[in-house]
This record gives sequence, C-alpha cells and structure tokens, in this order.
Amino acid sequence: MRFTIRARLTLLYFVVLAASFVAFFWICDLGFRRAIEITVNDASRTNLEIVQRVLSLCASKGTPKIRKELEELSGLWANGAIFQVSQADGSWLFRSTRFPLAQSLLPAPPPDGVAFFTTNLDYEQYRIAQKTVLMEGQLLHISAAVPTEPFDQALDRFRLFEKRFLPLLVVLASFLGYWLSGRALAPVNRIIESAEQIGLQNLSQRLEVPRAADELQRLTVTLNAMLERIESSVKRIRQFTANASHDLRTPLSLIHTHAELALRRTRSETEYRESLARVLTISEETTQLVESLLALARADAGAAHLHFTEMDLTPLLHKVAHQVSLLAHAKGLSFSARLLTETLFVHGDSAALESLLLAILDNAVKYTPPGGSVRLRSFAAPEKIVVEVEDTGVGIAAEDLTRIFDRFYRADQARSREVPGSGLGLSIAQWIAETHKGRIKVESQLGVGSLFRVVLPLAATLAGSPENSQLLDSQATVS
Ligand code: ADP
Repeated sequence: MRFTIRARLTLLYFVVLAASFVAFFWICDLGFRRAIEITVNDASRTNLEIVQRVLSLCASKGTPKIRKELEELSGLWANGAIFQVSQADGSWLFRSTRFPLAQSLLPAPPPDGVAFFTTNLDYEQYRIAQKTVLMEGQLLHISAAVPTEPFDQALDRFRLFEKRFLPLLVVLASFLGYWLSGRALAPVNRIIESAEQIGLQNLSQRLEVPRAADELQRLTVTLNAMLERIESSVKRIRQFTANASHDLRTPLSLIHTHAELALRRTRSETEYRESLARVLTISEETTQLVESLLALARADAGAAHLHFTEMDLTPLLHKVAHQVSLLAHAKGLSFSARLLTETLFVHGDSAALESLLLAILDNAVKYTPPGGSVRLRSFAAPEKIVVEVEDTGVGIAAEDLTRIFDRFYRADQARSREVPGSGLGLSIAQWIAETHKGRIKVESQLGVGSLFRVVLPLAATLAGSPENSQLLDSQATVS
C-alpha cells in the first residue's frame, strides 16, 4: 500500500506525539507518587516525633499520667492521624481507638532510626512510621500512622484526567499534524501543478520561485535550471532537424533537376554522361552528409559505440599523412609532415581518431587554394601528444572562430567559395577529441591561414622529442 507524504507525516506526528504524551504522563504519575510518599512519610514522622516528645516530657510521671497525656494528644489530632505506644512485652501503653492492629502484627520496629511501611488498618490505607525508644530504662515502640486516602484520591483524580485527556490530546495533535503537513506541502503541490502545465509547446515557461530561502526555493531553482537546459537542447535539436532537412533537400532537388533536364529531350551520350556524373557527385556528397548525421546521432547517444584500446598513434598519423598527401598533390598544394616515429600510446578508438585527423586535414586541403601549403606536425609534450595542422588557406574571421565547431556552421568564406561541405565535420571532430579527454584549439587569420592543434592525453610513450621527428614527405607538385 502506498501512502502520500502527508499521510506519512501525520502518522509520524501521531506516533511521536502519542509516545511523548504517554511518557510525559508516566513521568508525572511517577513524580506525583513520589511526592505523596515524601509528604505522608514527613507527616507520620512528625507525628511520631511529637509522641516521642510528649513521652520524654512525662516519662518519669508514671504510667497513668503518661496515658492521660497521650490521650489528650490523640484528641488534638485531626485528619485521622492515629498512634500507639507499646512496651517491649507487647502490652500497650497507649493506642488510638482506631488503631486496631496489635503491635505483634506490625513488623518489628528497627533498633534505631525510623521505619516506614504502608498497611491496611480497619479497611483504610495508612502510612505508618515506627521507632523504638528507650525511656526510663524501658524499651517503647512508637507507631504513628496517617491515612493515605486523601492523597490516593488526588492520584486517582489525576489518573482519571490522564485517561480522559490523553486520547483527546493525541487525536488533537494528529489533526494538528495533518493540518501542518498540509500547509508545509502546499508549495510542493503548487510546484507540481505548475510543472504539469509545462510541455514542449511552452518550454520557456518557468516555475515561480518561493521567496523563503529554503529547500523548496532550491528545488524550484534547480528545476528551472533543468528546464533551461532542456529548452536549449530542444532548440538545438529543432535547429539541427531544420538544418539537416534543408541540407538533404538541396542535393535531392539538384538530382531531380539534373535528371529532369537530361530527360527533357534526346541528348548525346556525352551529355548523358555529364548529367550522370553530376548526379553521382551529388549523391556521393549526400552520402557523406548522411554519414555525418549518423555520426552525430551516435555521438548524441553517447560514446558507447566506440571501442577504446591502448593504441599506438604513430602508424595512424603516418597513414593519414599519406592519404592527405595524395589529396594535396591532386589539388596542387605542397604538403609536409614532420611526425614522431616512436610508439605513442593513447587510450582511444582508432577509427574515431582517424576521422578526427582526416576532418581537420581535409579542411586544410579544402580551404587552401592551389599553390598554398599544408603542414602536419606531431610532437610529444609532458603526458600528451600534440598534432598540428597548419595551412596557408583562406583563414577564419575572428567572429567565426568560436562558431566553427557548431553543427552546420560554415563561415562565409566557405559558403561564398562554394567549397563542398556540410558544416558537421568539426562538430564531430570536437566530440571525438572530448570523448578522448583531449581538445582542439584553433588559431587563424583571415587570408593568411589557419593552425589547428589537437591535444590528446598520452597513455605511455617510449620516447618523443621533436629532434626524433622524421620528414615524411616534402613537396607536392603545384599544378
Ligand atoms: P565543412 O563541411 O563546411 O568543412 P566543418 O565543420 O569541417 O564543415 O568546418 C566548419 C567551417 O569552419 C567551414 O565551413 C569553414 O568555414 C571553417 N574551416 C574549417 N577548417 C578551415 C580551414 N582549415 N581554413 C579555413 N576555414 C576552415
């Protein structure tokens, strides 16, 4: 069975308060009984001392005189206090008429000091103080008793009060607990109601932050911050979808147009070939775009599909250097690579790191006009490896530098020069660098060139100084 927080709080109040009230009344009862005991003990002891004083005053005056004095004393006592004085042989010197218990039936008084006990005398409860005294060479036992009934009645009345009020108090306290927890949870319910109103259509709406600086204020501030993040993610997803559909529609309509134009009338074989070649190029670019989109979708789903191993980066660097040198040569660029030859262990996914390096090198070739140069360099720094790609290309304007890693972002230079691309390459490259605990830095000057620096943490290196670098390939022919 599931209880609401309010029900649980009320139950807690009920249990805690019931236990507290029971404990409180129990302690009161205990205190009351102790106070009664002290009071009746004092009363009976005082009476006993009075009897002793009277006895000592008239001890030498003979038994009849003593009896007379004690008789008078007994007449003076009110409130049902009684006493008796007996001799060592058990015979009475004096006893109040309502003191029906023979001395022999009472516990033996202690040889010194006062003893107390409670007993029933003539259907009434009495507290008795007993003492043995030596008077005129004679041992006398004095017993003074006070009725405990008035005190017992007070205790009974208190217990009756307890019995009547305890359940009432507990019930009242539970209602109070129910009301208090309702009041305490009211802001939570308001937060729930407001949160229920927020959906994809009104993601910019925020929860009202309570003024009191308490946990609920923290909760709403945290929820608002979470909504902020969700809103910006949704915005990015919407932007991404819009950009992706736009970028996919463009090549599709181009393919459509080329095919339509080719079919409009009968054409020569060369013309058909040209049209088909254009369609092929566009579809290759589209495949590239779809692959990039897929890579980003996987990146968004997390790095689970990557297979991290302790891998040597050196062969990979040599491999990409070779591939890019062919591209650069084909475009008429000079390409040089100064790479370390030693083993450079990184903890990474080989295919992902290859994509990262190729994305940056590919850009360097793409955005460098024929006649320019591209340089690849690798060197080891303490606990990391640095790969630098430098070109003498179109460069990137300062205002674009912070945005080139955004999805679909292409600087004006790239667009105006109609360099093919989707604006996704660097986003993917940056994601790969980050999942490898590395980073990409860029320095660039418009019209002069760019320098991309990839820094990756090194798992272990056997050697690595720039002097050990090897010139892989130097000049590429300029067309
Ligand atoms: P694209 O497919 O457009 O190349 P990228 O994400 O790889 O997408 O790059 C984003 C933008 O960054 C490019 O459109 C271009 O404007 C700029 N850029 C990237 N690399 C270079 C470079 N080496 N030189 C000049 N501009 C570059």
